[in-house]
Amino acid sequence: MAQHFLLSPASRGEKSVFDIARMSNDEAFILLCETRWGKNGTQCCPSCGVVRKHYFIKARRQFRCAEKQCGHTFSVTSGTKFAYHKKPYVDILYLIALFANAVEGTAALRSAANMGVSYKPILLLYNKVREALFQSRDLTPMHNEVEIDGCYFHYYIRPANKREHRIDRRLSFNLNPNKRAVLAMRQRGLPGQGASRTIVTVIKNENEQDVSALSTKFIKPNAIIYTDNHTCYASLATSYTVKQVNHAEEYSTDDGVNENQAESLFARMRKQFSHVHKCDPKFLIYYVNEIAWRDDNRRQSFYWQFLELVKKCLQSGQSRLWSKYWQGNRIKEDCLFVTS
Ligand SMILES: [Zn+2]
Repeated sequence: MAQHFLLSPASRGEKSVFDIARMSNDEAFILLCETRWGKNGTQCCPSCGVVRKHYFIKARRQFRCAEKQCGHTFSVTSGTKFAYHKKPYVDILYLIALFANAVEGTAALRSAANMGVSYKPILLLYNKVREALFQSRDLTPMHNEVEIDGCYFHYYIRPANKREHRIDRRLSFNLNPNKRAVLAMRQRGLPGQGASRTIVTVIKNENEQDVSALSTKFIKPNAIIYTDNHTCYASLATSYTVKQVNHAEEYSTDDGVNENQAESLFARMRKQFSHVHKCDPKFLIYYVNEIAWRDDNRRQSFYWQFLELVKKCLQSGQSRLWSKYWQGNRIKEDCLFVTS
């Protein structure tokens, strides 16, 4: 049997978490500059957008725009997910490295314990990383072979102590109001390579209307869809070639019809929720999208994933959701998919 990827040297890459933790703050600053603007020594002024070598204010590690009419002062984190940071650059990179290294997701509390600091800034940083991943999703329609399935989260209702106080948890009006279904669409890659790309959405439950709208939006008409025998997928047969497997009977038919890539993704998601301590249903999409990104890039090295996360945080703008969170800025809207 082939060696697991995570046991191979290719999974580690050029640098380890330890190497990143030992970087000086100057080295961390250079890495951030090169990741944001490239290695040719130019910067892009976030105010006027001019790309050139701007004046460097060494003592403050800031730049001043060299365009006379602008003169804007900016840093490498201005207008990024790291804007208004208080921690040194190397601390931020160390935390991103811990995040990247956790293949099944990690809790902010665990990273905070590693650094010996409060979990609050770490939680915000990690949620900003998740926001950056969400904003940089590839939503181009899928083709060839696509697996679709749903997985439920936040459905559990704790039974009352006394039997006479317990409710019938099967009845619809007794269901947990936070119950959500994550619908995953996974495009298969080359034979034997597993899935190559994933789009996840959050819906109330697996229903025909949402499934139909999502497949029209994200799957090309000539695709072959693999799914289970839930009734909501039956209507897809009018637009696609649909192959279904009855999980009550088997997980893969004799002809090889299965949706193991979707199930594999859900297994990783469930592992994530055994690590994190809390996830508000409003933010569920950010957590499951993080796992989808991790699963799609499972054969990339740690250092590649680390640099990719840093790049996405630097290039996806300032955080709308998590800025001033502890000062009372709370997200009101749910992350449910809306049929348009
Ligand atoms: Zn400027």
